[in-house]
Amino acid sequence: MLDMDLRLLLQSLTPSSQSVYVLVFYFVYLAVAGEILPGKVIRGVLLPDGSQLRYRCNGLFALTLLVAILGICAKLGIVSPLVVADRGLELLSATFIFCVLVTLALYVTGRSSSDKSSSLKPHVSGNLVHDWWFGIQLNPQFLGIDLKFFFVRAGMMGWLLINLSILAKSAQDGSLSQSMILYQIFCALYILDYFVHEEYMTSTWDIIAERLGFMLVFGDLLWIPFTFSIQGWWLLNNKVELTVPAIVANCFVFLIGYMVFRGANKQKHIFKKNPKTPIWGKPPVVVGGKLLASGYWGIARHCNYLGDLMLALSFSLPCGISSPVPYFYPIYLLILLIWRERRDEVRCAEKYKEIWAEYLRLVPYRILPYVY
Ligand code: NDP
Repeated sequence: MLDMDLRLLLQSLTPSSQSVYVLVFYFVYLAVAGEILPGKVIRGVLLPDGSQLRYRCNGLFALTLLVAILGICAKLGIVSPLVVADRGLELLSATFIFCVLVTLALYVTGRSSSDKSSSLKPHVSGNLVHDWWFGIQLNPQFLGIDLKFFFVRAGMMGWLLINLSILAKSAQDGSLSQSMILYQIFCALYILDYFVHEEYMTSTWDIIAERLGFMLVFGDLLWIPFTFSIQGWWLLNNKVELTVPAIVANCFVFLIGYMVFRGANKQKHIFKKNPKTPIWGKPPVVVGGKLLASGYWGIARHCNYLGDLMLALSFSLPCGISSPVPYFYPIYLLILLIWRERRDEVRCAEKYKEIWAEYLRLVPYRILPYVY
């Protein structure tokens, strides 16, 4: 029996040619759409050598066009809307193999690069696993495409596409529930909002500070779409009855989380562009001319993480509390953001020195006021 289960699992993990076609179509579409569709061109942060990358933020256009194309193809019977939901494990293993191959290629090309620019300069520690895992170059490119920006976009869009396929499956097998609808709406709003504000992504830690290695590629292409959708997969096989107060409370957690998450990220973004812009209608409190210490950034040093955690919780609450499985995402995010916040503090302390110490004095809480 166990032997049989194992064989079935291995079978569903083996990528078929169809799952490879799905991935190839997806990446080719994103590469072409990213290059040709119109979108606001944003300058990235100033790199140590004085250069600045340019990012074409046309993700919302690319995503809506892709969903429209897939919707029409599904209507015409060219593509099954269940293609992802029916081949989840296969697509997962095909994506994993792709991540390994692409990061080995990044390792080899990174090591042999003699480029001296901040984006392409190789950072080699000599430890193969370390260099492959953390990456060698900051902003490697392929055919002129910035791979870091490309992969994060592919992961976020992939998450929505997986969810939509799960939605189609639950509609087809008659299991569509209030829980599934709530989960789908919250995630879709979050992902669409991400692409509406895609330009903010260009100043995040991943884009400005992490090199492109297995950790980031795996995180973007596999971790985000496949694990953030666990609640949807779980709801396909589990029924949850939600009371009206539970639905209302769930909506509140989502809305407050969204307000804090978006508000904090927006305030920092606006502040970086123009440090004189009023925050909540008042002149900003600025430390050493560089750090914002009012608005959300005066409540806790990473209020944006607090908002993100509330949003993550709101994606899981529709699943009720009968199982810990749908809470994988908020629990993982809690661990990740605490770890990340600590690394960011070290980086900021080194960069801003006494200005950072003054900011710590003014804003003593890291993420949750009075608690942490
Ligand atoms: P932040 O957007 O918080 O960026 C941190 C950087 O902002 C610091 O390194 C510093 O950079 C600058 N900074 C910090 N404090 C201040 C201040 N008071 N005033 C001005 N600048 C300041 O971090 P992330 O890039 O990690 O996160 C961005 C968003 O992405 C967050 O909302 C987070 O929740 C989300 N996220 C989501 C994940 C997920 O899996 N769902 C994973 C990771 C992040 P500088 O040197 O430029 O000043």
